[in-house]
Order: sequence, then structure tokens, then C-alpha cells
Amino acid sequence: GQPLVFDMSYDKQMGNRELVNTVSQLIECEGWNRRSLEPFHLHFCNISPGGSYHKELLKRYGATWDKLLITVTEKSYIDIFPRNKLVYLTADSPRVMKTFDHDKIYIIGSIVDRSIQTGLSLANAKRLNLATERLPLDEYLKWEIGAKNLTLNQMINIMLSMKDTGRWEEALKFVPKRKHEGFVQNRKEKILYNDKKKRCTP
Ligand code: SAM
Repeated sequence: GQPLVFDMSYDKQMGNRELVNTVSQLIECEGWNRRSLEPFHLHFCNISPGGSYHKELLKRYGATWDKLLITVTEKSYIDIFPRNKLVYLTADSPRVMKTFDHDKIYIIGSIVDRSIQTGLSLANAKRLNLATERLPLDEYLKWEIGAKNLTLNQMINIMLSMKDTGRWEEALKFVPKRKHEGFVQNRKEKILYNDKKKRCTP
């Protein structure tokens, strides 16, 4: 199957509660993936043995841990995959993801941050010279307020849906409804909506 990478290099940027929360989300992600028609081959990269992520995952999974169909490794994705195939997903990317590419290896940052640390995953991708993309949220949804950073659960469901259907109208159903006012019907409506928003914000 197509690989999907979770970058586990953010344990030092999170407090204990955030880390526990991230692991809960990762466990759910593994479940969504396993139950899907065409699962990704999940890779948990950059995990330090005996580190806080590793300990928490072991604690939560117990004996199941060794039976999971996940590749868990200390290595970085840049040491496993060709660089030109990697795409780091980050809400702060200047590039919009247009279509789902079955040949690319997408990377998701395993981080839940309450006090949103903007640009953390973008900085990481830039440092490694990797391509980045953000989801086309503004392009498809009438966005209300709030951060465009989605949770890991939402991310994996969106990616599974894109892999399966290739349709943003399907995949973006996993964005919580409270964050937007529905789908943009056409280009004209999108321009009108964005104009209205601009006029309303001082
Ligand atoms: N401040 C963090 C950062 O610097 O990325 C936010 C982390 S977000 C809660 C968790 C991960 O989900 C991100 O690292 C990214 O891989 C992915 N993600 C969340 N929202 C995204 C979006 N709108 N577009 C692309 N990737 C997104």
C-alpha cells in the first residue's frame, strides 16, 4: 500500500497532556486506517526508543503493540523515501493541495498543540527542503472563524477519503461543521463570500 508518514519528532514541543492527547488520536487513526477499504501503510518515523511517545504508545497498546501493521522506526522519512516523493502537509504552506497523488508520500506532523505554535511543521519541512501542501479549505468551504489546523483524526479520514474517491467534496465532510458555513457552490459564490468577510473584518 501507499505509505503515509506520521512525523513523531515533536515530543519535546509538547507538554504531557498534549502528548497523551496526540497518542489517543494516533490510536484512533490506526483504527480508521485499518478498517478502511484500502489502508495506507502507516509509518511512525523519528520515534526515539524509550522516549515519551514510545512509552505512552506501549502503555496504551500493551501486547497489541507488536501485532500492529505499522512500521515504527527511529529513522527519518528522508532516510527511507526519495526526497522528491515526500510532501509535508501543513496548514501554513503557501501551496494548496489540488489533487491527491497516489505516488506521493504524505507526511503528517504528530502534534496536538493547544497554544497553537504556528509554523512548526512548516519550519521542519523547510529545514529539510521538502515540498509542502495545505488542504484546500478556503477553496471548498465557506470558512468561518478559527484555526485551519485540523486534528490527526480529521487528517487521516480526509486522506483516506481522497485516496478512495479523489473528491474534495467527499473528503472535506470530515471537517467539523462548526468550523464552516457549508461548501462553496461555485467560483462566483466564493469571491462574494470572501469579499463579505474582508469587509466585515476591520
Ligand atoms: N501548529 C502545528 C503545526 O505547526 O503544524 C499544528 C499541528 S496540526 C494540529 C497536526 C498536523 O496535521 C500538522 O502537522 C499537519 O501535518 C496536519 N494538518 C492540520 N491541518 C492541516 C491543513 N489545513 N493542511 C495541511 N495539513 C494539516
